[in-house]
Amino acid sequence: MLEIKNLHVKLEEEDKAILKGVNLTVEPGKVHAIMGPNGSGKSTLSYVLSGRDGYEVTDGEVSLGGEDVLELEPEERAAAGIFLAFQYPVEIPGVGNMTFLRTAVNSQRKARGEDEMSAAEFLKVIREKAKELKIDADMLKRPVNVGFSGGEKKRNEILQMAMLEPKMCILDETDSGLDVDAMKLVAQGVNALRSEDRGFLVITHYQRLLDHIKPDVVHIMANGRIIATGGPELALEVEENGYADILKEHA
Ligand code: ADP
Ligand code: MG
Ligand code: MG
Repeated sequence: MLEIKNLHVKLEEEDKAILKGVNLTVEPGKVHAIMGPNGSGKSTLSYVLSGRDGYEVTDGEVSLGGEDVLELEPEERAAAGIFLAFQYPVEIPGVGNMTFLRTAVNSQRKARGEDEMSAAEFLKVIREKAKELKIDADMLKRPVNVGFSGGEKKRNEILQMAMLEPKMCILDETDSGLDVDAMKLVAQGVNALRSEDRGFLVITHYQRLLDHIKPDVVHIMANGRIIATGGPELALEVEENGYADILKEHA
């Protein structure tokens, strides 16, 4: 599915290396979590995967299902199945949530050479999925994310993800700022999307999200590299002892 080999990334504007040789393979059907101290490069990794401006790949490879991701424009990456749920979801005044989602779904379908979803079919699907996420009809009509609470924005991101049916879902601190109930809803939404042919990269500061989204593999990132990989027990270890021991071991 997603294969990252020896990825080196620096800021475009200055000679500052941020990722210093990241190796990571996410198999289909698996949930990989990335934890790590602030400033270790977790968000940068997710931005680079989604194709955001401002970063330069100086070495390494990224492929999705064998296709070279680094060659693709951001829209092409999305059409290829990479979805990034933003740490800070954007507000789009003047554009209704439902209209936005329908345009996004159909433009991806078009890019893949698939038929557009009819208005009736779209309405049926989005209503079902919104209900599962406890998103009410009113929120579907309002402008994208405008005036949404933190929890509503996050649930809306998961709705976007559910509608776009990506192959590789990347969630960057989707739990930050959520109360326990909102976090459980988000986790439920993610769990409902888990499937044999879909991979997840869940970036989180806190182990608590991983109580609800059970990862298959946990990685610890520090100073632009993955310094430790293990099972869910690794996240528990971090929760208990912080990063100091792991950092010392790998210094
Ligand atoms: P994390 O998500 O793990 O907290 P980030 O990927 O946000 O880490 O940041 C990694 C490092 O790169 C930090 O030292 C951060 O200050 C730096 N960095 C990332 N993006 C930029 C940028 N656009 N300008 C300056 N520094 C940046
Ligand atoms: Mg940060
Ligand atoms: Mg971050």
